[in-house]
Amino acid sequence: MHFTGRTWRPNYESVSCILQITSGCTYRKCRFCNLYQNEPFRLSPISEFEEDLKEIKNYQPNARRVFLTGANPFALSYERLKPYILTVRDYLIKCQNISMFASIRDIKNKEVWQLRKLKAMGVNGLSIGTESGDDETLLLANKGYASQDILEQCSKLDEAGIEYYFVYMTGLAGKGGGSRNAENSAELFSRLNPYFISVDSLTLFPGTELFEMERRGEFIPAGEKERIRELQILIENLQIRTHLFADSKSNFYPITAYLPKERDFAVRQLQAVIDSTDEAQMEQYRSSLKSLE
Ligand code: SF4
Repeated sequence: MHFTGRTWRPNYESVSCILQITSGCTYRKCRFCNLYQNEPFRLSPISEFEEDLKEIKNYQPNARRVFLTGANPFALSYERLKPYILTVRDYLIKCQNISMFASIRDIKNKEVWQLRKLKAMGVNGLSIGTESGDDETLLLANKGYASQDILEQCSKLDEAGIEYYFVYMTGLAGKGGGSRNAENSAELFSRLNPYFISVDSLTLFPGTELFEMERRGEFIPAGEKERIRELQILIENLQIRTHLFADSKSNFYPITAYLPKERDFAVRQLQAVIDSTDEAQMEQYRSSLKSLE
């Protein structure tokens, strides 16, 4: 297999076949991220992609789900993406879903009819690191889009019937901003149809702009209890039927909930953590995180 550079896939893609189509990120400007800082965006030559597919076919001829690598392979235009997607179908005839990371910016270059065609070819399951739906927070994180863009671009995915997942990041709004971020994000997300929302919590790593901003006193991180309260507010305000997974390593207390059914239970569980745990103990957990891998 031709894996070059950093290969990063979400937990929920652990049973998918991982196939390199791109490496790196086309953007590299989010202030909290240092994942692909020294890795220029690269598209795998189709010959290389095909060799990897041959190898997968030898071991997993009945593979049903393939995850394409890179921070945002969906940045490829419809015309560039199409031959790769069709090649997956050539080799893995039982493959039903071809998933990948995508940014809101990457959907803009595609018309709804193109999205529909991609869906018909098997593209389904876009992981979108929205991080927030609050304009102030999106600007602070330098995500390169605003809440209106999230609404417009994900409505196109809804129209095309492509399933997508959001990532939300607690703590990203900084100290005092968590409840505003959660309320505004919940309101926006409730106008869309993310199949699930995965929640991470901001951890400042050296090499990121936010880390430097904190050192200069320009960014004050939210406390740990504020982040858990933020998650409670997000859960309380989401008005859609969706799964919420806040169980990655960056969350002090791992929790999952199917909303709205498990809303009250999840909020009570989080309250018990707020009431029974020391802020210092939580901070210690955060400072022990050396990476999110
Ligand atoms: S968060 Fe995603 S889009 Fe932003 S710089 Fe990192 S990899 Fe690129």
